[in-house]
Amino acid sequence: MTTFLAGGTGTPKLLAGGREVFDPADTTVVANTGDDVELGGLLVCPDVDTVLFEAGGVLDRETWWGIADDTSTTHDYLTDLSEAAGIEAGPRYLSDDRQTAGRDLARWRRFSAASEFMFIGDRDRAVHILRTSLLDEGNSLTEVTRTLADAFGVTEDVVPMSDDPVATIVHTPDGPTHFQAFWVAEGGEPTVEDVEFRGAERPAPSDAALDALLDGPVIIGPSNPVTSIGPMLALDGVREALQETTVIAVSPFVEDEVFSGPAAELMAAVGYEPSTAGVADAYPFADAFVLDGADDTSLDRPVVRTDTEMSDDADAKRVARACKRALQRASAEVA
Ligand code: GDP
Repeated sequence: MTTFLAGGTGTPKLLAGGREVFDPADTTVVANTGDDVELGGLLVCPDVDTVLFEAGGVLDRETWWGIADDTSTTHDYLTDLSEAAGIEAGPRYLSDDRQTAGRDLARWRRFSAASEFMFIGDRDRAVHILRTSLLDEGNSLTEVTRTLADAFGVTEDVVPMSDDPVATIVHTPDGPTHFQAFWVAEGGEPTVEDVEFRGAERPAPSDAALDALLDGPVIIGPSNPVTSIGPMLALDGVREALQETTVIAVSPFVEDEVFSGPAAELMAAVGYEPSTAGVADAYPFADAFVLDGADDTSLDRPVVRTDTEMSDDADAKRVARACKRALQRASAEVA
């Protein structure tokens, strides 16, 4: 069994091209849920869904979120109605007292769908309706995710990192805001002063995630160390489990150049150097790393180098092979 830790872009890209290297029937994907939101009463799990949609062959691979060729009827009509009603533009993050007034799982991630600030396609929305309905019937997010995986014909075992609420809150000079408001509505523009994971008192990994981590080996794909992997590391017992297991990580940087997204700013905000060296500091439990051929960072642990840019599945397959070599190196070191 091999376990991958996934956000919504870096690791899913790796998984997409890695199926000939890591047998999907022997693969568990632990997906970040810190980015989740409740939008108009529906629980949206962007990272879980990117993994499910990719493995199910329906992902929009231009954006790496949403369903390919989805329609926009509901979103457009919601927008028209909101405008006609004179409702101000979103994001409409609910007030503090409303954040804790609904489902436990939705704490600190509740947005109104009035002037819906995220684009949700019609088919995509059907997934969120089904997920939320199954949760309301009393199933855990782990169970619901497995049901959705069955619906999409997914072979990998895809599990949420936790069945507890964990909301990624970004602190900016204007105050705290949910990560999705910061990223989707504000394009990551505000200065980030800190990142907080808010929700359950002592959020725990889901049983399935913890079992997979302990079972190992674990591959941390090139996902954002702060907002995609960080929420997992904040769960009770996850760091300890990773310490016990063989772990390798693929850098989302080439030295101090990030491939995409806000990883550099977020790492600086939480006190890590925004670079491959900073990633290594953030992952003290990692036994080996996969770095880009042009990345000369010298680390205190074994390194396998390859071209880590993944423009297509052939690139991802090359990176997956490098992961396999890194696992061999890591196991050899331990032995
Ligand atoms: P998010 O949930 O959409 O933020 O996605 P992730 O956290 O899973 O992935 C974002 C990270 O993926 C960014 O920090 C990028 O630098 C990294 N990334 C994107 N494309 C590539 C690529 O082709 N190669 C590598 N090594 N990293 C990549």
